[in-house]
Amino acid sequence: MSSVNTISQPVKVSPYQSLLKRLNEAADILNLEDRFRAVLSVPEKIVEVNMPVKLDNGKTEVFNGYRVVNSTVLGPSKGGIRYSEHVDKDEVMALAGWMTLKCSIAGLPYGGAKGGITLDPKKYSVDELERLTRAYTRRLKDVFGVDSDVPAPDMNTGGREMAWIADEYSRFYGNQPGVITGKPLELGGSQGRSAATGRGVMTTAMCAMKELGWNPRNVTAAVQGFGNVGSFGAVLLWEKGVKILAISDISGGYFNEAGLDIKGAFEYAAKNGSLAGWTGGTAISNAELLELDVMLLAPCAMENQITQANAANIKAKLMVEGANGPVSADADAILDSKGIMIVPDILANAGGVTVSYLEWVQNRAGHYWTESEVNEKADPMLERAFAEVFKAHKDYKCSMRLAAYVVGIKRVASAVKLKGNY
Ligand code: NAD
Repeated sequence: MSSVNTISQPVKVSPYQSLLKRLNEAADILNLEDRFRAVLSVPEKIVEVNMPVKLDNGKTEVFNGYRVVNSTVLGPSKGGIRYSEHVDKDEVMALAGWMTLKCSIAGLPYGGAKGGITLDPKKYSVDELERLTRAYTRRLKDVFGVDSDVPAPDMNTGGREMAWIADEYSRFYGNQPGVITGKPLELGGSQGRSAATGRGVMTTAMCAMKELGWNPRNVTAAVQGFGNVGSFGAVLLWEKGVKILAISDISGGYFNEAGLDIKGAFEYAAKNGSLAGWTGGTAISNAELLELDVMLLAPCAMENQITQANAANIKAKLMVEGANGPVSADADAILDSKGIMIVPDILANAGGVTVSYLEWVQNRAGHYWTESEVNEKADPMLERAFAEVFKAHKDYKCSMRLAAYVVGIKRVASAVKLKGNY
């Protein structure tokens, strides 16, 4: 193993083009009429915002951000807000489109949206981030709404940012906790939301392992990304007996052939903000982690980690996509030809939006559930979604990814048809 912690940077592949390519392939399988393809292939609304924010040093910086509403056909649009230097219009458009399909597959009464601000949050103070988040909220206060567009956390955002957004929004429209999900518990958040996406990764991975006839106790795995999704996903898989040989984050990868102490890594990252300096494994690069000889690979960091450039080197036989778009469309055929079973992002990471939906329901009812009550509701929703996608995979004799697109498209197209107003 190399000891160089090189970080795999996203390759310049358009995530939106990846989305469109797969949408068209799935639409071909369904013989979808052109009018439905037209509705599905463009977002309903693209809002670009610029926010001048006073920095701690007295200077002003103008930040650029987006909110893209892909679809409201099935209900209010739903989707997270990410802070990352890679955020651009193309990325947010793709993420919004995946949200539409994800909510459809999960059977939620939601359309899809996504938001983002282009910045590296590590370079700014908490006060600067708060001013920026509030400015972004003011720009979008008439897009957001309990029954129109409901944001949530994504990369580099969490309960803290959701609390600022909810508070800023309340200054204009009064306290409406259901306008945003992923809030801290004290502000109307749901039990189980923090772990929800990682729990969904574990739940759908367990469904896939069952179909493959694998006993989790005999499975080896690697998890890329150790943030919200990857850390909870890794811990929950580890608790099921999966031996996790490698984990990573932006600081690099950590490897142990005998299996890592994932609980120790989780506690270390929670305390220190990342895995940097963790001594529980030998150093490997993020690129090496992806190509390890493990049975299960869970990319849980960011998009375009597996492309035409490295797909042929992937050795895992099951891939569970915790991240959105970790595999670019140009890699699909290569991975399919290797017989890899892929639980695609729009199914594998739907646990987050599912519990966000349960948070929204609790906010509207003013009645709150325990964590086990939340999990008892969310787990079967994901198991049903997996079963439906797996059935489509068998019925249409297509990859699990295209099967997920087929299931997602079907419900949206059917709603478009019923509405009859296009
Ligand atoms: P996060 O910010 O909590 O964690 C991201 C992790 O990835 C961190 O450990 C970070 O160090 C690591 N990382 C960043 N760049 C990397 C790189 N180049 N190489 C390797 N590791 C890198 O974000 P998150 O909420 O866990 O989101 C991760 C992915 O999951 C994103 O694609 C996001 O859209 C998706 N997702 C998140 C949620 C959610 O509820 N948080 C829901 C659905 C999907």
